Amino acid sequence: MSMRREIPFFNYSALFAENEGELSEIMLDVCRRGAYILQEDLADFETRLAEYMGVKHVFGVANGTDAIWLGLNAVGVGAGDEVILPSHTYIATAAAVHYVGATPVLADIGPDHMLDPASVESLITSRTKALLPVQLNGRTCDMDALQAIADKHGLIIVEDSAQGLGSRYKGRMAGTFGKFGTSSFYPAKLLGCFGDGGAVVTNDEFVAERIALLRDHGRDPKTGKVVAWGFNSRLDNLQAAVLNVKLKTFDKDVARRREIAARYQEMLGDLPDLVLPPAPDADPNYYDSYQNYELEADRRDSLQAFLQENGVRTIIQWAGTPVHQFDELGFKEVCVPATDRFFTRCLMLPMNTTLADGDVVYIGERIREFYKK
Ligand SMILES: *Cc1c(COP(=O)(O)O)cnc(C)c1O
Repeated sequence: MSMRREIPFFNYSALFAENEGELSEIMLDVCRRGAYILQEDLADFETRLAEYMGVKHVFGVANGTDAIWLGLNAVGVGAGDEVILPSHTYIATAAAVHYVGATPVLADIGPDHMLDPASVESLITSRTKALLPVQLNGRTCDMDALQAIADKHGLIIVEDSAQGLGSRYKGRMAGTFGKFGTSSFYPAKLLGCFGDGGAVVTNDEFVAERIALLRDHGRDPKTGKVVAWGFNSRLDNLQAAVLNVKLKTFDKDVARRREIAARYQEMLGDLPDLVLPPAPDADPNYYDSYQNYELEADRRDSLQAFLQENGVRTIIQWAGTPVHQFDELGFKEVCVPATDRFFTRCLMLPMNTTLADGDVVYIGERIREFYKK
């Protein structure tokens, strides 16, 4: 028996503590320069992230929710349109669709907890305009299957890749498949800043021009003249400077997450009481960045309580409620049986770069103890 440990689900103060010197320096530097809005650090970050993702344009915006909403605006999704997305997502995905005046249509998930192409196809109507796959938990959806459906029905694909940074499908980065993709830099995300932040990424010149206007009051970036209706949704230059520091170690951070996932797989893979997420080497078509480690567990609630008694904090994603189960939002007759079942069983184990090897072993041991294996 190993000694009791206290393992938080996510260690927010470590985001700063792990590189306090360099982060302090860059923040002071930004403040001394008085470089707060649409400045050099932001432009640098946009260039670097675009290079990293292999995409033409990145625009830093205020948060990951705005990114989806601005992107939908830019591609012209609006009143009368339907957009198909999974019910297993953050409310933000559906809210962005709602606030461009379109209708969110909720689809089911497949065995890997990602948007199920068969469910998507069954929901297509004459009003469907776009498919909105969510690159959840650091995994990319089966984009070949979704693209085939989009092509067959003349639909566009747009991606909520808030949780997908660094993940790849057939070698291509999440966020680069659709007309646009998004990112969130919320602190607990794969690439986290010290507050809110997000990005829209695109290879489409028209979408790029529209986002540049929409995020800055409709002002032409070159002349400063207002040429369209816009909003204010800019990534702070201070946050961009922090992200420039974090981006340097991003690949290393993803590698560490994959190492932890491999460790969980080794320790828990033989338990019949669990369904683990796909392992890092399970399928050469997928390279997962493990934003989260979301498994299915028999007697889930008892397992969660047992882990908590033993100092290990776990989370049920979206506080346990997929989008279609929010009664006040008026979703009726949504048929997503796999999602309904999943939410009686799903649980996220700690998954982040501040976990020590010993923490992972301790968590694995406690879970085996719970199932008496
Ligand atoms: C975090 C998240 C968002 C929203 O990002 P914010 O930056 O918090 O606005 C959207 N979709 C998914 C799937 C997310 O996990």
